[in-house]
Amino acid sequence: MKRVYMDANATTPLLPEVMEAMRPYWMERFGNASSIHLDGQQAHSAVDRARATLAEFLNCHDAEVVFNSGGTEGDNTAIFGLLRPGDHFVTSAIEHSAILAAAERVARIGVETTFVAPDASGLIDPAEIERALRPDTRLVSVMLANNETGVIQPVEEIGKIARAAGVFFHIDAVQGAGKVPLDVRRFGCHLLSISAHKMHGPKGVGANFVRRGTAMEALLVGGSHERRQRAGTENVPGIVGLGKAAELAMHGLEEGVMERMGKLRDRLESGILEIAGTGVNGGGKDLPRVANTTNIWFDNLEGEALVIALDLKGVAVSGGSACHSGATEPSHVLMAMGLNKRRARASLRFSLLKTATDEDVDYVLKVVPEAVQHLRAISPVAAGTAG
Ligand code: PLP
Repeated sequence: MKRVYMDANATTPLLPEVMEAMRPYWMERFGNASSIHLDGQQAHSAVDRARATLAEFLNCHDAEVVFNSGGTEGDNTAIFGLLRPGDHFVTSAIEHSAILAAAERVARIGVETTFVAPDASGLIDPAEIERALRPDTRLVSVMLANNETGVIQPVEEIGKIARAAGVFFHIDAVQGAGKVPLDVRRFGCHLLSISAHKMHGPKGVGANFVRRGTAMEALLVGGSHERRQRAGTENVPGIVGLGKAAELAMHGLEEGVMERMGKLRDRLESGILEIAGTGVNGGGKDLPRVANTTNIWFDNLEGEALVIALDLKGVAVSGGSACHSGATEPSHVLMAMGLNKRRARASLRFSLLKTATDEDVDYVLKVVPEAVQHLRAISPVAAGTAG
């Protein structure tokens, strides 16, 4: 059976070039980047080269790139590294759980958090962030692109507000990286987190941009790796893979990969919207969204049932974020946008890989209407018996 993977916001496969770039660093070039012998030097220069690529990708200095284990660590580091008892933290209600759960954790040491709600289209209003600021606010954290709706947030405006107020600004750019150009100077942030596996790189590796002079506590202590900002022997193959993924992402952005992807996504979206009782969450003509994502509600059915039905037909999509799959709670993102529980539960995210094709979209457009029709015919929700 044909399989079409449309869950790129959960994770992506390595591009072949990434695999090839990483290959020597598992066996022949296995050295520890901290060792002084030749094997160590080879590993060290590979890490340095990846660091230079990341600096170009983010528009920062090499010394401002700190490699880590991915988005969760990057987000946690911003919060645990900067917030102290008595501080106030401002974030949005639609952040990833790597931010929301960390905010819950620091609440125990006396950090109060204000969660700014989005509007109905999933957009965070910078004026609401400004209104939430207090004299004791130390950190603002807002994501670049939402993982469920793809909506791109006005981080540049928020950066200006944070700067004027003299507070630290962190951006979770995990879902924006590779899909929109990153520029930490233009964004005006002190910290920014990315993760390789969301951009056709390996799992378990990522990086934080940490603006020079940002005094923060390291999350992991031990050796003096990463200028004492993140202890632990460097994941050299992973870092090389992240570097290659960033390089390919930069080329892709220049070569119009996202425009091609946006056209595929738009065709997919309008095809699905031809089914009665459907609509886009976080859509809207002028609303900026990353090119690979659409989030669609389907009246009169359970989203989870549709995910399973599509999987059986070879199509991988997700209802809400992957980290919550299996949970019966509706998406906190869609709920914060004002959807009722029933509609939030009946929403699906389609997120395309960079390698998606017209044939993939054709197949999904054949399978989805059939599955929806079948489920609606047998659905207790459709019959009005489910609450
Ligand atoms: N932030 C966002 C917006 C995400 O979508 C994810 C992953 O789903 C993360 C953070 C966590 O990244 P990682 O899987 O690398 O820990």
